Amino acid sequence: MTNEESLPLKGRRALVTGGSKGIGRSTALALALAGADVAVSARHLPELEAAAEEIEALDRRSLAITCDVTDSEQVQGMVADVIKHWNGIDILVNNAGLAKSHKFLGHSDELWHQLIAINLSSVYYVTKAVVPSMVEQRWGRIINIASTASKIGGRYISAYTATKHGVLGLTRSLALELVEYQITVNAICPGYVDTPLTDSNITNIANRTKMTEAQTRQALEKVSPQNRLIAPEEVASVAVLLAQDISKGITGQAIIVDGGGVMS
Ligand code: NDP
Repeated sequence: MTNEESLPLKGRRALVTGGSKGIGRSTALALALAGADVAVSARHLPELEAAAEEIEALDRRSLAITCDVTDSEQVQGMVADVIKHWNGIDILVNNAGLAKSHKFLGHSDELWHQLIAINLSSVYYVTKAVVPSMVEQRWGRIINIASTASKIGGRYISAYTATKHGVLGLTRSLALELVEYQITVNAICPGYVDTPLTDSNITNIANRTKMTEAQTRQALEKVSPQNRLIAPEEVASVAVLLAQDISKGITGQAIIVDGGGVMS
């Protein structure tokens, strides 16, 4: 096996938002294992520093940068920081996000705006800050962690679904607009993934219904024909594939990782 095959991302510089936990952390590690230097960002430093240490243990460079991605000024500062250290960004994974559910009747405007800010505006802010450096170097990979809720609707998740459909719309339009700069833009659409976010959703659902947490977890597992939650590493491996040079023909796509539940 050549070095290029075993480390297809060697020399690439990646930024993963929400890189301290769940899908983001697995993706950051998988990118590093494939050879990339990886900057991770989130709001809380201790978990970020732990993620950065894991990356450095693989002999890659890492940066741990605190940033609330709903704040465009903080986002600009974070991206400037990575570019200052590494002189550019090749791979951006827009992963930070939040899933909350509520019936549409009685839905609060506050919840609507919160989900739009963290799941959709953040993708716009971070991408807008990163794209000029990708355009300058005429190469880039933008990978948006969307959801099966980008493809289908669902009861009690109207706001979440709207944000994730929005992410897919942004993905598709940017894919076309950035095509001349050898930048690809894709979305990964997971079903339920075994992460801290899903753990807290299970607790919330169990608190609101007569189901126990174990029953709630089983109900989420049953959404997949494979009767299981997706592991974060499965999402991460798709990100590694999309980030590679060989994947230059894949752009504007929404790749579903859900055990076959959604086929559209
Ligand atoms: P987790 O809650 O496990 O991790 C979320 C990460 O995002 C953490 O690192 C968190 O760190 C960070 N984060 C949250 N809010 C902000 C913010 N305002 N600014 C910066 N960072 C933030 O989530 P998952 O790994 O489960 O989800 C990641 C993505 O995958 C989300 O976009 C989600 O919608 C999507 N997804 C998840 C699925 C699932 O079943 N888990 C299914 C489909 C899609 P900190 O709190 O320190 O900021």
